[in-house]
This record gives sequence, structure tokens and C-alpha cells, in this order.
Amino acid sequence: NSDLILTVNFVLLNSDTKQRYVVKDILGQGTFGQVAKCWVSETSSYVAVKIIKNQPAYYQQALVEVAILTALNQKFDPDEHHIVRILDKFVYHRHLCISFEMLGTNLFELIRINSFRGLPLDIVQLFSKQILHALIIMKEAGIIHCDLKPENILLSASVKPREIKVIDFGSACMEDRTVYSYIQSRYYRSPEVVLGYSYTTAIDMWSFGCIVAELFLGLPLFPGASEYDLLKRMIEILGGQPPDHILRSAKNTPKFFRCIGSIHGLEDGEVYSGGRSVFQIRSEEEYEANESKKPVIGKRYFNYVKLEDIVANYPHRKNLPDEEISKENLTRLALIDFLRGLLEFDPVKRWSPLQAVQHPFVTGEHFTCPYKPPPEKLRNFGGQNITVDHNPGGGHWF
Ligand code: ADP
Ligand code: MG
Repeated sequence: NSDLILTVNFVLLNSDTKQRYVVKDILGQGTFGQVAKCWVSETSSYVAVKIIKNQPAYYQQALVEVAILTALNQKFDPDEHHIVRILDKFVYHRHLCISFEMLGTNLFELIRINSFRGLPLDIVQLFSKQILHALIIMKEAGIIHCDLKPENILLSASVKPREIKVIDFGSACMEDRTVYSYIQSRYYRSPEVVLGYSYTTAIDMWSFGCIVAELFLGLPLFPGASEYDLLKRMIEILGGQPPDHILRSAKNTPKFFRCIGSIHGLEDGEVYSGGRSVFQIRSEEEYEANESKKPVIGKRYFNYVKLEDIVANYPHRKNLPDEEISKENLTRLALIDFLRGLLEFDPVKRWSPLQAVQHPFVTGEHFTCPYKPPPEKLRNFGGQNITVDHNPGGGHWF
């Protein structure tokens, strides 16, 4: 076992600063290691300490998490941008330990506590705005989170009610260093990642769209039991599919789609101009024949297929006064329009965080017609102002 056995009152010591962290509780456990609630007597406060397993791969990835968060915290005020504050890092018996400000419940827990009935629209709106503020600075810094999901968004400690922060930069990368292809948690995985296509900060915007829908519905919008099931659900619910120019060059396209180009008499690489796609998602039988295994299919949560119908009918709000009903219905229309801009198959057309933050659903302005985002302003090229050392010198784990 490469985890430390933590018990109450176990002391983690930063041997450089002599800071002592007294373990009081275990907050989380994962493949990377454990997260402990610790007491720091010098500051009379609790902090969350992530204790990484003493294995080189985890150690190296955790150093990237430290580097990215340190850079983000230095460049932007973490209290204003809804990103967790990193406090300290040290090595304790070959375990890299990272301390963070102590936060509260994660948003999945909040949805669960609410019996999966969804959160009130004003809360969804407020949380959306805060997550967007985190995404704006991440994009500005050229950083992709790569694992945005309700479990990685935490309420602040009780002194700041209704405030949230994004945590867990353990899968994050710089936009010009997209080395891993197996990223993002499945329900929140973007189509370009499923397809093995090149990716950008836009993959976090897809996850964000999934999160907003889930906060409202109380249930995940695309609970794909496999990547095939995930793609099928996206295509069904959104009524579209990734554009041909992406399908034509993405690595995993043949696994999920068949090319019907030859039926139309097209040569390889020729663009079909009839407005229809030359790619068609494979049927379950075809997938099975092609991959020599049955695709795993999950159960459906909603009695409706289209996004518009799902959001218009779920969740059913009981005992809403009449004057509230028309207001709620209008906000639901704004939410549908908002989700449409985020759950856009083409990452280039998908709204950026700066475009999304001006949507009436977020600003609370009266929603009348489909939102046309302002053109994306040219930005400093990917992460020019932040440099993250992916191979920090002297960073070997022993
Ligand atoms: P993992 O890579 O396993 O997802 P996380 O950084 O997400 O690691 O931490 C795992 C869990 O520990 C979180 O889901 C959360 O419940 C808890 N946790 C992490 N950071 C904090 C924090 N700053 N305050 C309170 N709880 C935290
Ligand atoms: Mg996590």
C-alpha cells in the first residue's frame, strides 16, 4: 500500500517551515491518494491537505497541479475568480502533500441532498456565473481543467453562503500541451475527446454545459454508460452530430460512425454539399460486429428525447404560484438557449466563457430572442503569460 495510514491526530510535518498539520478527518479518497481535514494551530484554522501516493507518476502529475494552481493564484485573486486557493506544498515521507483552503460540500452532494430534484433556477444562474468567472481566467491563462464536474465544484465554507470554487486541477494541462487523450469524466466528456480529435479549452465549456443542465434537472443530461452510449445520447438529445470536417479527421470516428459517402458517389475526402452528413452513427448491431463486443447502454432518465422538451418538462415544480409560473417558463427558455450555445458539437462555434457570461440567463436580463454572442476577441496566444514547468527540476520523489 502506497497510502499513508491516517488516523485522528496524526501529524503531517512540513520539515522546511516546521508547520504542523494535525489530521482531524478524511474528506476524500481517490486513485491519487487521500484528502484530510487538518488543524493548523498557528493560524487556528482548518485546511484541506491532499496527500499523494508515493509513486512517481502520481507525484509528477501532482506537481503539475501545484504549478498550475500556483500560477493561477498568483496571476488572479482566487477570492474573486472562484478557484481554490493553494496554501502550501511539502514532501512528507515521500508523499507530496498539498494544502488548500478548507471548502464545504461538493455540488454532487448538494444535488443528492436535494433528492435529485434539481436546484432552484436562481441558484443555477448564480453558480453558472461563478463557474464562468473561473473558466474566463483559465482560458486567459491557456489552462484546460480537463475534469470539470459537480464533484469538483465545492461550496465555500459557511461564512460565504452561495459561493462556490473550482477544485481538482489534478488532470489539468496547458492548452499547448494536450498530451493525454483519455481525459474528462465520461458524463461530462466532450465529443471531440470521445472522437480522439484535437482539443482546446472548449472541452471545459462542454462539461460546463452538462453541469448547468444537471444542476437544473437534478440528473445528468448524458449519463453515458459507455462512449458509444454517450455519443448516441448527445445525438438524440441535441438532434445533431459532430460536423463532417471533424469526423473526417478524428482518430476514433470509424469506431462509432459508418461513412455512407460512397452511396452518394463521393470520392474519399470529397465534401458532401447536400447539407447532410456522409457519416451515420453505427447501430448497436453494427457496433458489435465491428468492435467484437456489445456496446454498454444505460437506462433513460427522461420521458422526452429533445433538450427543449426535457428542460421544459423537468423538473416539475409543485405549488408554484401562478405569477411565478410564467417567469419560470421564460427562464427555462433562456436556459435552453444558453445550453444550446454550450452543447455545440463544433468546438470552434461553441461559446467561449466570455461569450457565455453575457447571456441573459446569466445576467438576468429579460430574455426575448436567441442570443447572438459578441465575436470572440483575439486573445493573447495560449498561455503566453503563464509558464508552467512540466518537468520541475529537483522534483524527484525521493
Ligand atoms: P480527485 O483527484 O480524487 O478527484 P480532489 O482534489 O477532487 O481529488 O479531492 C477529492 C475530494 O476531497 C473532493 O471531491 C472533496 O470532497 C475533497 N476535497 C478536496 N479539496 C478540498 C477542499 N479544499 N476542501 C474540502 N474538501 C476538499
Ligand atoms: Mg476530484
